[in-house]
Formats: sequence, C-alpha cells, structure tokens
Amino acid sequence: MMNTKTLETESNESITITSTINKQINKFTTPPWKDMPDLLTWKDMPEHLQFNPYVHTGYRPLQNVKGCLNSLFYMHNETINILTHGIPIVYILATVPTVLFWDNSFRFLSWCHLVGAVSPWCGSFVYHLFMNLERGETVYYRLLQLDMFGIWMSQSFGALPFVTASVFCLSGFLKWLTIISYCILCLWGLHKALTASSPWQRRLCFALPFLMRVLLTILRISRFGGGNPTAMVHVFLQDGVSVFGGAIGAMHIPEKWFPGLLDVIGNSHNIMHILVVVAVYSMHQATVRDLEWMWTMSNSKCGTSTNHTFDIPLINNFTTDSHSEL
Ligand SMILES: [Zn+2]
Repeated sequence: MMNTKTLETESNESITITSTINKQINKFTTPPWKDMPDLLTWKDMPEHLQFNPYVHTGYRPLQNVKGCLNSLFYMHNETINILTHGIPIVYILATVPTVLFWDNSFRFLSWCHLVGAVSPWCGSFVYHLFMNLERGETVYYRLLQLDMFGIWMSQSFGALPFVTASVFCLSGFLKWLTIISYCILCLWGLHKALTASSPWQRRLCFALPFLMRVLLTILRISRFGGGNPTAMVHVFLQDGVSVFGGAIGAMHIPEKWFPGLLDVIGNSHNIMHILVVVAVYSMHQATVRDLEWMWTMSNSKCGTSTNHTFDIPLINNFTTDSHSEL
C-alpha cells in the first residue's frame, strides 16, 4: 500500500516537472508576436492613458516590461510612434558622428550636436514603448518627463552650435552674455517642463529659448550676425517645422475630423513625430554648415568674407557629401 502511494506521488511529481519544462520550452519557442494580447478601446484605459479621445481602438492593455518589449512585434496604436523615433536613433548614431568636426576647438560643439540630435528620439522611444507599463500613473509621468527631457536636450545642447555661430562676430563680452543667457533660459525651461501639469504648459516651457532663437535669427540676417549664409533655409525650417508639428499635435488634427479612423496610422501624433524628425534633419544641415563656417572663420576675421567656405574645396566637398548622409 505504502509503495503504491509513493509511486503515485513520484509519478505526479514527474508529470508536474515535465509540464513545467514543456511550458518553459513553449514560452521560449513562441515568437513574441504570437504573445499578442487582445487590444483594448479608449474607454477600457485608465484615465492617464486617455489623452486622445479621437483614437478609439488599438490600445495595449497594461503590461509588464517583457509585454511592452513584445509589443514591438505586432501592430497597435503606438507602433508608428515607436518606429518613427526608434529608427532615427540607429540612423543618426551610424551616420552623424562621421560628418562632424572632432578637432580640439569644435569637439564640444560637435558633441552638443550629436547629443541634441539623438536625445529626443531616445526619450520618446522609451516613453511610447513603456507608457502602458502596469506600474501606474506615477511611472507614466516619469516616462513623460523623460520624453520632455529628451526634447529639452535637443533645444539646449543641440542649439548651442547655432547660438555660438550666430554671435561669432560679436565682441567677447556680448558673445558670452548671449550664450550664458540662452543657457539660463534653457534651465528655466527645464524646470518648467518637469513641473508642468498640462500638455499646453509643457509646450510653453520651450517658448523663451524659442523666442531667443528667433532674435538670434534676426541678428544673423543683420550685418552684425554670424553663421553660414547657406544655412539660413535650414535655420528657418528647424524651428518652423517643429512649431507646425506641435500645433497639429495639440489640435488633434486630422483625427478630430475622422474619429476612430486614424487610430493606428495617420493621426496627429504620428504626423508630429515625422515633422520633428524633419526639423532635426534641418538642424543637422544648419549645424554642419555653421561648424564648417566657424572652422574657416577662426582662421580669418569676421566680416572679411562671409563666403569664405567656398575658398576651401576640401571642406566644401566634405560638407556637400555629408549633407546627403541624413
Ligand atoms: Zn510622441
């Protein structure tokens, strides 16, 4: 009797072990896209994830880290947002460093540009991928702050080459006064961005650095300003396109006109994501031209020749090639 019971227990244990092993093997051999959960609707989501009432379906349920990572392998209403800012990270890191100036005098500004060009996508990628993490509202707002911080890095460090080039021909005192003022405005913007409580407040945090860039653009047009004249189109586009993208995102256009029809692709956030990539492309174009201009100007005097860059074929070719990179 005892022996039969022991045998039964042993056989039950071995069945449990086998089924656990089988479950584990299944788990590891199931491709991530087969793990796709049922997608939810707007009204199923917690309040902090109901930020766009015109996107009705395609919401991922609350998930753990693995679930969020697996969501890279199936379509939902954040897929386009994740891809549009995930792909530029790889592309920029692979191409931008090779076209920057890494000698002593321009190393810092080149770093500023690289960090400024890549950081918005890092913050945004992490925010969109993990926004449905099952850790509640507090973690969601931390992720949103990370997204804001990435944008801030681009507006502060990323804009320093533009600011430096714009004031390049001013006297030492005025030059440093402008650069330091810009840094102070950026720090004020960061404080406001991290403590903002509404999407509009978050957008307005970048208003003062933006206004200063507008003034610097006017300075560049005047005879007192510096910067590569061939960069002007991109100087206008770098801020113009991102302001346009921000306005579209804030107004929920076009999904406001077609509620529920643009849930997965074509909504205002998707369009805004693409427009800000275009804006950073212009920032890159303007910065490379400005760095080239400052490099040539550091060997001559401001005002002697604004087209000095065209006198140096080696640098000119280098820049022309680099422009086709992004
Ligand atoms: Zn976004």
